[in-house]
Amino acid sequence: MSGKLFVISGASGVGKGTVLGRVMEERQDLAFSVSATTRAPRPNEVEGVHYYFVTMDRFREMIENDEFLEYDLHAKAGYGTPLKQLEEKLRTHHVVLDIEPKGAAIVRKKRPDATLIFIMPPSVQELERRLRSRGDTDEEQIQIRLERARWEIEQRSWYDYTVVNDDLDRCVREVLNIIAEKAD
Ligand code: 5GP
Repeated sequence: MSGKLFVISGASGVGKGTVLGRVMEERQDLAFSVSATTRAPRPNEVEGVHYYFVTMDRFREMIENDEFLEYDLHAKAGYGTPLKQLEEKLRTHHVVLDIEPKGAAIVRKKRPDATLIFIMPPSVQELERRLRSRGDTDEEQIQIRLERARWEIEQRSWYDYTVVNDDLDRCVREVLNIIAEKAD
């Protein structure tokens, strides 16, 4: 099989991780594309599950060797989608990428049949509250992330679908419906 590609974007703190976790529990035929990043792991993040945590030197080497489908530098860190791993997963699964809009724009160009889904917070105020309650991000990072969130939210216009995460169950159901429509 050659699986379908799904991109999910949404500002940090929007609850994408929770939504994706629930979506993947429901669909065993869906695999998560594990990105490489230079940022430090958060508590509970596992190497090879949430991210591959790499040094900036290794990240640059991956760029030079063309190892990424797409990559971006933001929030003082590098983030990229390793191409080989993605191709391998697509042989047996549909694959979901959790990446931000610049990366999503590159995926759209390189893989025009990918489905792009944008998860919206109920409001920027609610996003700020969620970011603070997470408690693992310092004030400077919160401000950088909020600034970026405002920009990201403007990008939703060119995504295929926008889903608001004001009610987790409904958001999960809507994402599952979109995937079913494309993949089943
Ligand atoms: P976080 O540091 O909160 O895990 O992620 C910050 C942002 O980086 C999120 O918007 C996430 O979607 C994005 N991101 C994660 N992996 C990648 C990637 O491989 N490429 C791109 N372009 N963005 C990524």
